[in-house]
Amino acid sequence: MLGRFEYARPQSVDEACRLLAEGGRAAAVLAGGTDLLVDLRNGFRSPSLLVDVKRLGELQALKTRSDETVVGAAVPLNVVVENRELRKAYAGLSDAALSIATYQLRNRATVAGNLCNASPAADMAPILLVLDAELTVQNAKGTRAVPVATLFTGAKRTCLVPGDVVIDVRMPPLDGELRTAFRKQQRIRGHDLAVVNAAAAYAPSRATLRVAVGSCAPTPVLLEPFDTKGTSPQALADEVLRAAAAATAPIDDVRASAAYRRAVLPVLLRRLLADVVSGRGGGI
Ligand SMILES: Cc1cc2nc3c(=O)[nH]c(=O)nc-3n(C[C@H](O)[C@H](O)[C@H](O)COP(=O)(O)OP(=O)(O)OC[C@H]3O[C@@H](n4cnc5c(N)ncnc54)[C@H](O)[C@@H]3O)c2cc1C
Repeated sequence: MLGRFEYARPQSVDEACRLLAEGGRAAAVLAGGTDLLVDLRNGFRSPSLLVDVKRLGELQALKTRSDETVVGAAVPLNVVVENRELRKAYAGLSDAALSIATYQLRNRATVAGNLCNASPAADMAPILLVLDAELTVQNAKGTRAVPVATLFTGAKRTCLVPGDVVIDVRMPPLDGELRTAFRKQQRIRGHDLAVVNAAAAYAPSRATLRVAVGSCAPTPVLLEPFDTKGTSPQALADEVLRAAAAATAPIDDVRASAAYRRAVLPVLLRRLLADVVSGRGGGI
């Protein structure tokens, strides 16, 4: 059962920031509510004020240009999935969004909410890590950029502070060809959280490969970039697998054992690398 709380729907980001500053730790930002309302119902959180940002105009941006890609914090995942320019530029981003839950749920859930909830299994996290994305964050004192690489501080924890509102998620300008892919292992086809997920971004002209892994540590993990120059696909895969094993620490939980995760991770990563390095195109 839901506890008692006040509900506010501000008309501007400034008003939202003011309400959140007044509410302090007792206030929470509400976007799609697909994580937050579940937490309220289960008694994991009990804010006295919900500030609904879902309809704020400043959070609705969706721009896909070569010099700027912006996904507003209130844009539903289905809009991301269905945007053709986004798919053309970042197939891995579209696939990650498509892998989340059901069509109905994706009509409410947002990319920003997925990141702010900071689940180790968050499907948008690995791809946004490899894309070097950053969040525009505003509070009553001003606006700042928060790289996704510094966002996660622990399981379900971020560096955001009470009063912060994420305005949008930004990707750096596209510099030549970039191949991206996302892979996810889950218990069942359909809506289920990841047992292991991973994303990669490969820039052939710069011979750089970036890989991130989720659900295998308290936070999603971005590996150090790989220099692919003069490296055979086999040697590259071995290097990535070694780095991933060293940087992760899977645990047993309701979805899988640590041993299963350790066994699946190399398989998933080899498929992911085949997607981007050979340009075969990905798939979840
Ligand atoms: C049945 C079901 C299946 C699911 N399947 C998956 C899955 O397969 N993969 C997956 O990764 N997730 C899954 N989820 C989780 C969930 O749908 C996502 O994490 C979703 O993207 C969260 O976005 P939201 O807009 O609903 O966030 P909300 O629930 O509104 O908020 C989540 C958290 O982020 C904060 N927040 C949200 N927006 C902002 C903002 N603009 N500024 C500051 N803080 C903000 C909130 O305060 C809250 O702490 C599932 C959930 C359900 C209920």
